[in-house]
Amino acid sequence: MRQTCQLCKVQGELLQSHILPEFVYRPLYDEKHRFTVVTEEGNRFQQKGLRERLLCISCERQLSRYEKYASEVMNGTLGHRFRQEQDKIIIENIDYECFKLFEISVLWRAAVSRQEFFKLVSLGPREEKLRAMLRAGDPGQPEDFGCVVIFAHDRGQDISDTIFNPESFRWAGRQMHKIYFAGAAWLFHCDQQAPVSHLKKFFLQRNGTLVGLCEELTHARANFSIAKRLARRNRLL
Ligand SMILES: [Zn+2]
Repeated sequence: MRQTCQLCKVQGELLQSHILPEFVYRPLYDEKHRFTVVTEEGNRFQQKGLRERLLCISCERQLSRYEKYASEVMNGTLGHRFRQEQDKIIIENIDYECFKLFEISVLWRAAVSRQEFFKLVSLGPREEKLRAMLRAGDPGQPEDFGCVVIFAHDRGQDISDTIFNPESFRWAGRQMHKIYFAGAAWLFHCDQQAPVSHLKKFFLQRNGTLVGLCEELTHARANFSIAKRLARRNRLL
């Protein structure tokens, strides 16, 4: 069936593209190859993966390249190490262009997805800017759709076997989207206004440094307070 590729807008055969990165799912699979999804209502259900016909083969290959690189950073294959300093996790020597394009490719896929699971990810007119950046392989400036990564722990336990619905929220008056994958929450700055400076230091920097946060995510989320607590800590509220 010929359809229009959502990224290049050319008509052709589309592939069943995953919305959330593949490498998310691998550690999430149990022995029966299922992973657990926690919905907004707290219901748990099993799902093989979230897929949709979005991309032509050429665009799929482009995004796969970014994802392969990001997965290799995240699992240490390329020698990256996660250094913990109190509640911060620091990763250095990241290829800014590749990793940033990976981050925004996930946001874009979630935004264009028609699946119920991603219904809260909506970028309005900014979606076209994001598409143009991806199409051109342009990672933009750190603050363009900058992303704060929160490495999740549940009372010290890894929660990578659990993912949650994406959420839309405001942080320091800015529109943000939170997407969970790879055992982390990825908070994207999606506002027209420039991000506040306290937020900017957590975005991937051009020198390849990513300062992430380490949080007991399910606990924080149960109180729906993670953004508020972070904001308070940074005197944003
Ligand atoms: Zn395409």
